Amino acid sequence: MSLLRFHAIKESLAYKFVNVQEHERRSDLFGRNVFNENTMRQYLTKDAFVGVRNAVQFGKKIDRNIADQVASSMKDWALAKGVTHYTHWFQPLTGSTAEKHDAFFETVGGGMSIEKFGGTQLVQQEPDASSFPSGGIRNTFEARGYTAWDPTSPAFIYETTLCIPTIFVAYTGEALDYKTPLLRALHAVDDAATAVCRYFDKNVKKVTSSLGWEQEYFLIDKMLASSRPDITLTGRTLLGHSSAKGQQLDDHYFGSIPNRALNFMRDLEKECMLLGIPVKTRHNEVAPNQFELAPIFEEANLAVDHNSLLMDIMGRVASRHNFKVLLHEKPFAGVNGSGKHNNWSLSTDTGVNLLAPGKTPMSNLQFLTFFINTIKAVHQHEALLRAAVASASNEHRLGANEAPPAIMSVFIGEQLSKVLDELEGVTKGKLSPKEKTELKLNVVGKIPDVLLDNTDRNRTSPFAFTGNKFEFRAVGSMANCGNPMTVLNTIVAKQLKDFKTEVDALINKKDLKKDEAVFNVLREYIKSTKSILFDGNSYGEAWEVEAKKRGLSNNNTTPQALKARVSKASISLFEEMGVMSKIETEARYEIEVEVYIKHVQIESRVLGDIARNHIVPTAVKYQNVLIENVRGLKEIFEEKYHNVSKEQVNLIEEISNHIAGINANVTKMIDERRKANNIEDIEKKAEAYCKHVKSLFDKIRHHCDNLELLVDDEIWPLTKYRELLFTR
Ligand code: ADP
Ligand code: MG
Repeated sequence: MSLLRFHAIKESLAYKFVNVQEHERRSDLFGRNVFNENTMRQYLTKDAFVGVRNAVQFGKKIDRNIADQVASSMKDWALAKGVTHYTHWFQPLTGSTAEKHDAFFETVGGGMSIEKFGGTQLVQQEPDASSFPSGGIRNTFEARGYTAWDPTSPAFIYETTLCIPTIFVAYTGEALDYKTPLLRALHAVDDAATAVCRYFDKNVKKVTSSLGWEQEYFLIDKMLASSRPDITLTGRTLLGHSSAKGQQLDDHYFGSIPNRALNFMRDLEKECMLLGIPVKTRHNEVAPNQFELAPIFEEANLAVDHNSLLMDIMGRVASRHNFKVLLHEKPFAGVNGSGKHNNWSLSTDTGVNLLAPGKTPMSNLQFLTFFINTIKAVHQHEALLRAAVASASNEHRLGANEAPPAIMSVFIGEQLSKVLDELEGVTKGKLSPKEKTELKLNVVGKIPDVLLDNTDRNRTSPFAFTGNKFEFRAVGSMANCGNPMTVLNTIVAKQLKDFKTEVDALINKKDLKKDEAVFNVLREYIKSTKSILFDGNSYGEAWEVEAKKRGLSNNNTTPQALKARVSKASISLFEEMGVMSKIETEARYEIEVEVYIKHVQIESRVLGDIARNHIVPTAVKYQNVLIENVRGLKEIFEEKYHNVSKEQVNLIEEISNHIAGINANVTKMIDERRKANNIEDIEKKAEAYCKHVKSLFDKIRHHCDNLELLVDDEIWPLTKYRELLFTR
């Protein structure tokens, strides 16, 4: 093992970075490997083109004949680019993407063969659903599942495979992936938001949800990373003493990007361009060897696909540069972890961002409507929103004083808080002409000016308004954005639907004018949602106390947080909005709880193994050297030896204490694991893993990390933090 560490260090020091050349403009590369509108115009007949466009824009069904034409053109396009295989590309609940490649090649008898791809293969496939998590759906119904083409996300070529984005559902129709509920949620928010928009502009026919994610990650030398069994098996370090130098000098953030990392980024960005992923920003993050990448925002479903695709290709491109990408939320203790801010907004088919203030009082009233309804939605469903970002890996980040806390709150800044305060004073019922004018001129009319100089940005808030969008910052770096985006769009859809009902009631029953009714409902929302607004330091302990007083939930652990997924309110919310049936919601919950258990279980096994089989033997070896040394000293110094060997003897004892500490806690952990494994109820089992197994990690780590400081560096088996984090 120790040999492996030094071998890895030597290899990594000898590595010469590859210089990535960029010969073509990015705008020329962009989308070259995507069957996008441009390509479709060239390859499709007019009928087929219109058919696909209607499906994308208006959700119209594509008939078989059109599907055949599209498939045939896709094949021609792909073959011309040297493609040999096609696959349905989907996002099962494992967290990674799935694909099963089939060759276009087919035999036709008589020793002859052709390349074939028809509408049937484009539209539907039947992968074996039983190998993917289904949360019991496959037990209750049939094991079969199928993938079905999602024409709203264009097919693309990766290497020599044509990839067709698809949904993945059980034979009986239940969703088994992230995309299906997301598409339903996007449909729900479109319906609800369009209806509300029509109070302000009758021309609006469609509202689209946008997502711009910001992906944080670590780049670690591949050899060094693979010398660590914990990184290899769990994606993070389970032990390791912090490096003398970490991030305390703040010298990495926005610093000049190290050459090797920069070449990785260039290479990755080239791939992204070809695949139509509009990446734009790259920079160093806070922790050493931590970086960030962000695209221009896109329609949410496409953005989710692009993020999933990106996470996949990052690993492959990294390998070309002798890097391993760590997407885990907390790969190293003591330095910052990684997140994935989800920037979210809604916009109309008339080109209006509903979360950006407009130029006229009417468009600002529309902005305030969407702004306040979003706050209300988060207020109502804060626990569910928290559940949407809960995972074993994100548990290390949320609430750990560096990332948003486990408490959900909304930051809106001083100026918009003032606007809400003024709106709160609006008269109940009918408004006098004077009040209306006053509101239009001085409150609603002033928003653009106010926002221009609204520079206070609170980086500690989990859900912050940032000028023309909300930024959901609690999402984990490893997460599939489909989950948080499904929840966010669903809760906003539900809220907008309720809003519409309330406003219509005031118009019809109380005879209020439209704007009076809107003002009246918004006023009540402002009054009732105050507890979710927080502009202070969300990382501070004072906020925990305050949030408790306000009645906000603070679900620190994943098992606790996930429960909100299956509360009565959540189940009926998803049902009402047509996003997930009760069966689907419950299945998802079951999968998430099980995944949590498995993650903690694997980490626990790996930690026990490293501690006992790597650390303890090394400590004993070093201790024997010390014992030998003391014996020698005794021989030479005779009665004076006590004096000269004092430090060594102390060390011998200290090492023994740590070894005892490791052994006792590992034994206890194995015992707790056994007990937990015997629990039938998965909720209780997850809690046992969280409370009794995981809680021992830190104790074991404490002893191991202390030994790291005592034992001779030359025999220490695990690549150290300073080597992992500072090798460039
Ligand atoms: P930061 O939050 O790091 O300061 P920006 O606010 O400039 O960075 O943008 C971060 C991300 O937000 C980018 O992916 C960007 O495309 C996205 N974004 C910008 N405007 C919107 C919007 N209206 N809706 C959704 N995402 C947006
Ligand atoms: Mg941001």
